[in-house]
Amino acid sequence: MATLPANPTIAAALAWATAQLQGASETPRLDAELLLGHALGWGRARVVAELPSVIPAAVLHTFRELVARRMDHEPVAYLTGRKEFFGLEFFVDRRVLVPRPETEMLVELALEWASGWRRSHPTAGPLIIADVGTGSGCIAVALAVHLPDARVYAIDLSPGALDVAQQNIARHAVAGRVTLLQGDLLAPLPHPVDLLVSNPPYTILAEIDEGVRRHEPRLALDGGMAGLDVYRHLLAAAPAALHPGAAMLLEIGATQAAAVTAMARTAFPTAQVIVRQDLAGRDRVVMIQTRVSAAAAASL
Ligand code: GLN
Repeated sequence: MATLPANPTIAAALAWATAQLQGASETPRLDAELLLGHALGWGRARVVAELPSVIPAAVLHTFRELVARRMDHEPVAYLTGRKEFFGLEFFVDRRVLVPRPETEMLVELALEWASGWRRSHPTAGPLIIADVGTGSGCIAVALAVHLPDARVYAIDLSPGALDVAQQNIARHAVAGRVTLLQGDLLAPLPHPVDLLVSNPPYTILAEIDEGVRRHEPRLALDGGMAGLDVYRHLLAAAPAALHPGAAMLLEIGATQAAAVTAMARTAFPTAQVIVRQDLAGRDRVVMIQTRVSAAAAASL
């Protein structure tokens, strides 16, 4: 295995770390740049712009430790304490699932739905949204940032996750419009909402990537034997938590569309249920559009 020379330049340290991370990561060079940037207190752009610079000894020590942890499959986002999601930077640590790029689609669909809702409710008060299992708060915060007239309830069972979400709410200055609630699924919700979004735990633990399973919170990942337990509970409780005409957007695993769609039809027999694919063409979101009640439709 390559050894790191004494007093290495940035170029040499990156080459060494990239070789070290080959087996542990699919993006060893990128990881090396992000970790060295973190150790230096620099952005990645500056790291790659200063390849001939020699690294101070204290920084090198920190960098070696970060590389060792990454070799143990710890996510880069936990090592740097940050992750970009929907163009916003979030604080993350091991108390929350690292935001995933595919979840950005849930936010996009929610924003699209919200603009349609506003067009058909031009004089209504704020759009009321609930994000169930908010984790880092990335979905709730992205929605609040992009929907200045919305109010968001961000719910999580984990007090640690709520602490992380609280920091992200403060960082993005949406504390006035995002309310954190601690509890199980919809239990803490004080009243029905117009839009319910969730990226619930849906994995089958035995089937996922080792690094994810070992380092990310089980509570955020474990969907039970078939990965469907949380959808079952959430969908059973959802009809009472939605206004007539409300919608629900659920992130799903690529093989779960048929099962989740069937559960959604049982919970909402008259709703429209649609499956949407992510950029890789995999089933990723189930969208449930409930009907406006006859009385509400008449008064529109
Ligand atoms: N997409 C995540 C993964 O595959 C799982 C997220 C979840 O269970 N909600 O690791």
